[in-house]
Amino acid sequence: MQSGLRHVILDRDGVLNREAEGSGYVREPSEFHWLPGALEGLATLRRAGLRLTVVTNQSGVGRGLMTLEQLAAVHARMQEEASAHGAALDAVLFCPHAPEAGCSCRKPAPGLIQAALGRSGIAAADSIAVGDDARDLEAAARAGVASALVRTGKGRRTEALLGDTRVPAYDDLLQLARAIVGNRSPA
Ligand SMILES: [Mg+2]
Ligand SMILES: [Zn+2]
Repeated sequence: MQSGLRHVILDRDGVLNREAEGSGYVREPSEFHWLPGALEGLATLRRAGLRLTVVTNQSGVGRGLMTLEQLAAVHARMQEEASAHGAALDAVLFCPHAPEAGCSCRKPAPGLIQAALGRSGIAAADSIAVGDDARDLEAAARAGVASALVRTGKGRRTEALLGDTRVPAYDDLLQLARAIVGNRSPA
């Protein structure tokens, strides 16, 4: 992991929160459930001065299964709870498009990660993307950003699918956060 790391770009479902059962979409704040270690992991990164950006595919909007207002309410709740745990998020970027829209932001397209980089003013080389799905890792590669896998959400299945990969894998966000912070050179 890079020692000059300043920016962590995180997938949402399966990394921060449990993936929703049934529809597969978190449509209401009450359906947003943090994964064990996620809030503490975010807070660990935040205390170390790292910028935190969430980048998430939310095609439930484009499929007509939820509204932008519902998504905003979910993200407001996520931000509120993150902030209350000392883990305020600097930016939350999402792709609302359906897969067939052919947009440039839905991962594995690199648009969301490129937007995260652009907003942060932090170089790709000083950033890392964290995900549980192969498309998160592919989007990162296409944006020129290193990536890491967490074994939450789809992570174990993804790790098995990828086989022998150079992408580092961690049991959860807290373990990853401790590895990042422990590896950083003092500012
Ligand atoms: Mg995910
Ligand atoms: Zn999109």
